[in-house]
Amino acid sequence: MGEFDLIARYFTRPARRAVLGVGDDCALLQPAPGTQLAISCDMLVEGQHFFPDVDPFALGHKALAVNLSDLAACGATPLSFTLALALPHADESWLEPFSRGLLALADEHSCELVGGDTTQGPLNICITVFGEVPVVGGKSQALQRSGARAGDDLYVSGTLGDARLALEALRGTLQLPAEALAQARTRLEQPTPRVALGQALRGVASAAIDVSDGLLGDLRHILTASGVGATIRTELAMDLAAAGSRLAVERAAISQEKQLEFVLSGGDDYELAFTAPMSARDAVRAASQLAQTPVTRIGSIESETGLRLVDAQGQLMPGRFSSFDHFA
Ligand code: ADP
Ligand code: MG
Repeated sequence: MGEFDLIARYFTRPARRAVLGVGDDCALLQPAPGTQLAISCDMLVEGQHFFPDVDPFALGHKALAVNLSDLAACGATPLSFTLALALPHADESWLEPFSRGLLALADEHSCELVGGDTTQGPLNICITVFGEVPVVGGKSQALQRSGARAGDDLYVSGTLGDARLALEALRGTLQLPAEALAQARTRLEQPTPRVALGQALRGVASAAIDVSDGLLGDLRHILTASGVGATIRTELAMDLAAAGSRLAVERAAISQEKQLEFVLSGGDDYELAFTAPMSARDAVRAASQLAQTPVTRIGSIESETGLRLVDAQGQLMPGRFSSFDHFA
């Protein structure tokens, strides 16, 4: 199968929203009046971002999911994407499930594939995604990292820690009961981008980011961009612990401390961390309901810079947390 057959068979579908899709030198997009384009690009490299033997369907899903997660963090509505693909060989038993996983998630979000590039080489998947955000009264409605203010509440969507839990289990650094591994593995390999929540938080959240590198590290980006600090209440953060890690704790496969570490600093979960003024608590609840995505309030933003973790008694948690406190 040649390059052009491959593109035609697996990556070409009739353009719907785009003016012109796959097949010409450029795709043509027509942004709706009163909107601006939100653009993000993420690359997945074999060995770095996924195991060589990962299920190609899941890989297709994840390659787009991590990009949609960036749109979600900006509150953007997905429009379309391009796919740059380097492949060792045109293996149909890989391409078929890969494109199916990719395009199934694309359809779920009405995000169409409008172009790309295909070349021979070590497996590498690079997606650029395009979304739109409204501009109201000359002001972009995009959520940004720089908008957090002292007094704001700090929230996280969904659950955290299972992607990292699965990664450790697959690397062989810990042993999990089969059921816990199955739960955790789905989070690692097929993350759910919080697109609906991001859109529902436009005009409600003051700042947002998607949690790809771990909550503490990603939150730091909000704090730095906004010139503020934060306190996280760890007993509230523990409510974020994902299903796989709960099972693993129940069966004594990991300690609660390990679970907390994965919640605070495990990566690859693709949840949204965001801030909102206290006056917006009802609006946050409404956004969560509208998007059918749970959110948990875990702390607050303060004018004193840096990140503090406190226990249920309000005592600063010292010592071992400094190991994954990037602010130390
Ligand atoms: P060019 O030579 O102009 O760079 P190509 O021959 O690389 O174009 O690609 C032909 C058409 O197929 C273009 O419209 C391009 O956007 C599209 N295309 C190439 N690879 C992919 C891919 N992996 N997914 C989707 N579209 C692709
Ligand atoms: Mg060309």
